[in-house]
Amino acid sequence: MKSTIVTFPDGRISGRSEIVGAVPAGVRHGLVVAETPFHPLDHTWPDQPADRGTIGGLPVVDCVTGAWSAGSLHLGEDIPARRGAEGWQWLVVHVTDTPLPVGATVELEVDAGHRAALSAGHTACHLAALALNHALAGRWRKEVALDGLGRPDFDQAAITSSRISPNGSVDVYRLGKSLRKKGFSAEGLDRALDEIAGEANDRLKAWVAADAPVRLDVPGPELTARRTWHCSLPEGAASIPCGGTHVTRTSELGAVTISLSLDDAALTMRTTATPAA
Ligand SMILES: [Zn+2]
Repeated sequence: MKSTIVTFPDGRISGRSEIVGAVPAGVRHGLVVAETPFHPLDHTWPDQPADRGTIGGLPVVDCVTGAWSAGSLHLGEDIPARRGAEGWQWLVVHVTDTPLPVGATVELEVDAGHRAALSAGHTACHLAALALNHALAGRWRKEVALDGLGRPDFDQAAITSSRISPNGSVDVYRLGKSLRKKGFSAEGLDRALDEIAGEANDRLKAWVAADAPVRLDVPGPELTARRTWHCSLPEGAASIPCGGTHVTRTSELGAVTISLSLDDAALTMRTTATPAA
């Protein structure tokens, strides 16, 4: 099997392709096609959940990443290599309760509403990260890598997990010793959370109002191509490496707001978008 060609980076939600592989997926069936619009959960950085929909009329109950090498296949968490590693074919595996034959040509249909909500959640997540970087910029005491807007990149320096949901996300940042060594001061952060969130929310409001265009740079058609998210904001052009799906303009998000909470050495940011139905 060859690496799956994916069309979701272009915003596609339907397609037709040949089944090129049928593999066991636990007690279920894993179907691989040559080209798919389905976004699978990534095993290395599982931020955006799998698409829902149908393949050949059958419900896709899950959609996971597969890695194929030397005649053996690994799925999801069992993949022993990092996303896109050499020597592997990277597959989108559509999980169904009923098998379909290899060689059959099938229609693939992604649940449009679920996809749109995940795209809104993902774009909002990236904008929120940039707004948070901005609001925390004054807390850095040393030089540190900058984000696309020229602010210290707190998001990249501290993030431990990012989980996207329909119209939202939850990002967790670690405020431990290593971040302090990099020059970040968390002193008095607990008392400043409302002010920081307020500043970020003002900026997010302006970015949504700016109706800024969002696009993905897609260097190749395969699942693990190193795609990049771009957004032309009033402050400048921001970019973030990203394997997911997005809206095409910030105005589609309706409103984006964050809230912050601090728990031991973790800062949690909850982001909500409210796109028009
Ligand atoms: Zn992303």
